[in-house]
Amino acid sequence: MLEFNNSKTNCTGCAACASVCPKGCIEMLRDGEGFLYPAITQDGCIACGRCEKVCPMVHGAEAPGQDHQAFAALTRDTDVWRRSASGGAFTEICRAWEEGDTLIVGAAWEEDAFSVHHVCVHGTGAMAPLCRSKYVASDMDDVMRTMKSHLGDGGRVVFCGTPCQVAGVRGYMGRDYDNLLLVDLVCHGVGSPLVFGQCMEETGKYFGRRVVGYDFRVKRRVYETLYLSRLTFDDGTCKYVTRDPYTQLFLAQHCLRPSCGKACKFRRAERQGDITIADFKGLTDVFPRLKGTKRNYSTVVLNTPKGRALHGPLSRSMHLLPCSVEDVVRFNPLFARQTWFSEKRDAFFADFAQAPAKTIAAWTTPCTEYADTLTHRVFGRLPVVLRRILLGCLGQ
Ligand SMILES: Cc1cc2nc3c(=O)[nH]c(=O)nc-3n(C[C@H](O)[C@H](O)[C@H](O)COP(=O)(O)OP(=O)(O)OC[C@H]3O[C@@H](n4cnc5c(N)ncnc54)[C@H](O)[C@@H]3O)c2cc1C
Ligand code: SF4
Ligand code: SF4
Ligand code: SF4
Repeated sequence: MLEFNNSKTNCTGCAACASVCPKGCIEMLRDGEGFLYPAITQDGCIACGRCEKVCPMVHGAEAPGQDHQAFAALTRDTDVWRRSASGGAFTEICRAWEEGDTLIVGAAWEEDAFSVHHVCVHGTGAMAPLCRSKYVASDMDDVMRTMKSHLGDGGRVVFCGTPCQVAGVRGYMGRDYDNLLLVDLVCHGVGSPLVFGQCMEETGKYFGRRVVGYDFRVKRRVYETLYLSRLTFDDGTCKYVTRDPYTQLFLAQHCLRPSCGKACKFRRAERQGDITIADFKGLTDVFPRLKGTKRNYSTVVLNTPKGRALHGPLSRSMHLLPCSVEDVVRFNPLFARQTWFSEKRDAFFADFAQAPAKTIAAWTTPCTEYADTLTHRVFGRLPVVLRRILLGCLGQ
């Protein structure tokens, strides 16, 4: 780690320090838990202090997004909805921002299928791999430099990531760019890539085949199964599972980065992003008329004048239902504040360091395979009006 920030709970791994170093002295290295931290690995430091200057955890994360306009949002494009975690807000925001050669920067699976990296693609036509949440810590690689160079050439850029990554980008850029749009997420925290890889190995053993691909939150007939994941095996077959070991550890917060606990400075209403996106929780409580809908919605909160300027194009590509920020916070408190932390996180990683496979077996239950029941199949095909009537009769 670096002298000015040598506590793991205080480093988010945003890589702003490594990106800004003019001498290329800083490398992001994985620790025993699988998370990336900066370290000076090359000679030549000229003590310019730029690495410290850009670090959002040292200088406090100034957050410009304070004037909120909130919506439940659903894309009008069914293909986009299908390949998105919630209502397709991210894709529609990128489409609304796109003008000329636009760089889109977001998280994608690496070819090994088990690590996540931020990548830059040119134009919304190439953005499919960036869609859908990957609940594993993403490696920022060299995207900040690529973004700055594109901005300097006058091109447009949209960046989407966790609020701490957005804070890192802000620190690195050093000023606001009219041609840069920043989108942050309501954030549960990011999980260890090492634990994820081990879970995939154990899951493969359980099914007697090697797992070669994994997708979080794929959509089947009924959207209520929010955490349905798809496993792809080396023989080309797929299985859908509801609670695989990694999902259990992630949701219980046992495998999160140390900075995702009490030290996180970014779960607050002053947002890092020009726009914040999230799941829309409590949808039918806030909008009872949506009872029975087959689609899940995103939360979209426009936080800055730049974000609000996209309201026009977004209202053409999405169903935008205005709501209050209080409604968002009521059902999704992480938008505005810390909630709870796993007290067992350190105990989990202590066990994991000793015996990874045994620890996964001891701390989780085996996968639950998902199969559409006959009721689901029939219910999923009913028109919304009928679903609503049936749900009403069932008192739901
Ligand atoms: C680690 C993580 C934790 C989250 N926690 C919550 C939560 O607690 N509550 C909540 O309401 N919503 C949470 N979200 C947001 C939610 O999962 C959806 O991303 C959101 O609803 C937007 O979905 P969408 O349909 O608009 O877009 P999608 O197309 O699903 O958008 C995906 C976008 O998320 C970004 N992304 C995906 N994986 C990562 C990653 N590992 N690191 C950084 N960025 C990534 C991509 O860059 C992409 O731009 C979380 C997302 C992530 C990645
Ligand atoms: S002080 Fe300057 S040269 Fe030294 S590591 Fe930091 S950014 Fe690089
Ligand atoms: S800039 Fe980011 S990666 Fe570097 S020390 Fe600060 S928080 Fe850690
Ligand atoms: S919980 Fe906080 S520190 Fe962790 S990824 Fe999210 S914003 Fe970053």
